[in-house]
Amino acid sequence: MADVLIIGAGPVGLFMASLLLQDGIDVQILEQRSAPEPHSRAIGIHPPALAALAGTGVAEALVAEGVPIRRGVALGGGKCLAQMSFAGVSDRFPFILSLPQSRTEALLERRVNEHDDGALHRGVRLTRLSDDGARVTVEAVSVSGPLHYTAPLVIAADGVRSTVRALRGGALRMKEYPDSYLMGDFADNTGFGPDAALFLAGAGIVESFPLPGQRRRWVARLGAGDVTAGSLTIGDSTTGDSTPGDSAAGGQGGDARWLMRCVRERTGLSIDAGTNSMLSRFGVRTRLTRRMVTGRVVMIGDAAHEVSPIGGQGMNLGWLDAAALAPIVSAAVRGQEVEAALRTFERTRLRAAARATRQAEINMALGRPLPDGLLAARNRAIGGVAAVPAVNALIARRFTMH
Ligand SMILES: Cc1cc2nc3c(=O)[nH]c(=O)nc-3n(C[C@H](O)[C@H](O)[C@H](O)COP(=O)(O)OP(=O)(O)OC[C@H]3O[C@@H](n4cnc5c(N)ncnc54)[C@H](O)[C@@H]3O)c2cc1C
Repeated sequence: MADVLIIGAGPVGLFMASLLLQDGIDVQILEQRSAPEPHSRAIGIHPPALAALAGTGVAEALVAEGVPIRRGVALGGGKCLAQMSFAGVSDRFPFILSLPQSRTEALLERRVNEHDDGALHRGVRLTRLSDDGARVTVEAVSVSGPLHYTAPLVIAADGVRSTVRALRGGALRMKEYPDSYLMGDFADNTGFGPDAALFLAGAGIVESFPLPGQRRRWVARLGAGDVTAGSLTIGDSTTGDSTPGDSAAGGQGGDARWLMRCVRERTGLSIDAGTNSMLSRFGVRTRLTRRMVTGRVVMIGDAAHEVSPIGGQGMNLGWLDAAALAPIVSAAVRGQEVEAALRTFERTRLRAAARATRQAEINMALGRPLPDGLLAARNRAIGGVAAVPAVNALIARRFTMH
């Protein structure tokens, strides 16, 4: 029995829990994994999310470990086409922070434990739930057997394959995209320092972002004819499936070498496949639920809206869901009427998810392969548009979720 049950201890469930715990709400979090997820998916934390995270005192710890990206450069044909500074997007956090998701989750989990070290239940998988209008009963399994929990409210932050969403039913807007990408983390020998770099190549975009510890993430858009050397088949992975890299292991080592060759051909830069520490191949799809609130169950984060990783907004969107929901939940637990507030929450957060989806679609379109003639014209247009200060500032705001 708790005031609120949260399903899923990913970044969104952990942040939601820390917001409620600091407000004195009794929270229990059920997480199916017995240990934290070691793989890094998200790295980019945007200024509005940092401002929300500052509300629980986590932003300072994240900033202390991460790399602030203050500038992005777009390159094509060996030339700098455009530069974009994030200096004007926020007074407090004028940058996008780069930090592997596994570290972000560790810092969020530490915050939850500081509030209540008994709140997080690992190795507990929700299997069923029922809502009788007054309370929600959750059935779960763990190594020690079946478990039952009840709470007046359940918040589902159980990710793209949400069990809660499947159990509750409800319409989803779904779209599959033709794009797939190979991404990997390597030692950084580029000289780009803390800048992000986008290489607008004819064969497809290559994106490159700084990571802590003198490392860099590379993301290459795969073309129709690109078959990498690894053991995974292109197209068999979807957003959210990531593969831990081990450059010494056969298939993944092959993929690291493929990415190294791809980066060399498209950018002229050399990365060392031997320094690869993570590899992941992903395709892209969108799944937007039409209802985030049904009865006494609220879905947030990827459970409610899966968006393309290209644009780096999924985790940030989920945190902003949590920041918007927390005061409503606190008011509800204190017996206040929150129906209207919940309707506004649902409407504004679904709108934010639709906006992020459109932004990601623009980003993906910019990165698709183009024949030489069109590529030169497109890259000239990008240079021209970005040279107009007002447009440049507007794009910087859009990139940083303002
Ligand atoms: C390659 C890639 C790169 C990305 N880059 C970025 C980026 O730079 N910036 C960004 O903002 N986003 C990015 N994203 C998206 C980001 O990773 C997700 O949006 C984020 O992880 C969503 O968080 P979540 O807490 O909603 O879900 P998840 O992280 O998926 O967490 C859900 C949790 O629920 C648990 N769970 C699931 N089912 C149950 C159950 N039945 N019972 C109990 N527990 C359960 C899972 O074990 C998991 O721990 C990227 C995604 C990918 C794939």
